[in-house]
This record gives sequence, C-alpha cells and structure tokens, in this order.
Amino acid sequence: MPNIAVFPGSFDPITKGHESIVHRALPLFDKIIVAVGYNANKKSVFSVEQRVYFIKKTFADTPNVIVASYEGLTVDFCEKHKAKFLLRGLRGIADFKNERMLASINKELCPDLETIFMCPGTAYNHISSTIVREVLRNDGDISNFLPKALQGYVKLQ
Ligand code: ADP
Repeated sequence: MPNIAVFPGSFDPITKGHESIVHRALPLFDKIIVAVGYNANKKSVFSVEQRVYFIKKTFADTPNVIVASYEGLTVDFCEKHKAKFLLRGLRGIADFKNERMLASINKELCPDLETIFMCPGTAYNHISSTIVREVLRNDGDISNFLPKALQGYVKLQ
C-alpha cells in the first residue's frame, strides 16, 4: 500500500512556508496530496480554482505531489484517498495550540489517521498567507514570500 499524506489548508495563497513543509515531508511519503479545503469560517481572497492553480504551478516539477480541493471533513477526504497521514505545519507556539486541538479532534473522528507536524525552514517561520494578502492589498513586494514558480502570477483582481 502506498504511503500517502494529505496536507490540507486554505492556501490563500500558498507561500514559501507551505512549500517548505511539502519538500521536507516528501522523503517520508510515496505521495502527498495538497488539498485546498472550503472553510466556511474563513473568507478567502483567491477562489479555490486560483489556489489550486497556484499550488499546481508550485509543484509542477514534483511528480509525487498531487493537488486537489475538497468540501466537508478533512478526515473523510483522507479516507476517500486512502491517506493514513495528515500533514500540518508548525511555525511556533501559536500554531501549536490550534494544531494540537485539531489533531485531537481528527484522531477522535478517525483513529487510523495520524497527524504529522513539521516545521518549515527557519527562514520561513514568519510567513503567513494573511501577511501576503495584506502586503498585496497595499501594493507591496510579495516576492520574498511566494514560491519561485509563482513570481509575478499572484495578483489581486
Ligand atoms: P488553515 O486555514 O487550514 O490553517 P493555512 O493555509 O493557513 O490553512 O495553513 C495550512 C497549514 O500550513 C497549517 O498547518 C499551518 O500551520 C501551516 N503553515 C502556514 N504557514 C506556514 C509557514 N510559513 N510555515 C509552516 N507552516 C505553515
């Protein structure tokens, strides 16, 4: 059975931090599915289609990465795709609190699913999609925060 992990998130948009998590996790899995979730509590700036496109472009040369979107529970998406691992990123203590709670809920919903936490490269600890959107809104330079493949592509409409 292939060893599959799902990396779920809003990715509004994907950043160098997210990209770093995927690259660090790649040696551990046969396949990583980066999955854009519809989150009713988060109003997104980019459409799901745009977010999927940005992620596909980022990992165009990485065959073991697949990009998808989903609605509903993350655990159901994992089950459907036979993924035994959920991948999440940790920048610091603030992330840890929330991520630990999410992991506990997911464990209760699906005992066979294990959450794996990874830290990004230290150069990416401060990056968030929220900051990228804020800089974009104010016409700032976001190139340091975005994957190389996306330079010049991410613009507000
Ligand atoms: P969500 O709405 O699910 O939190 P995000 O796209 O904000 O979606 O984050 C997806 C995952 O990536 C989360 O586990 C988050 O902690 C992690 N993440 C976000 N930014 C970074 C970063 N710079 N470095 C490492 N992990 C990150």
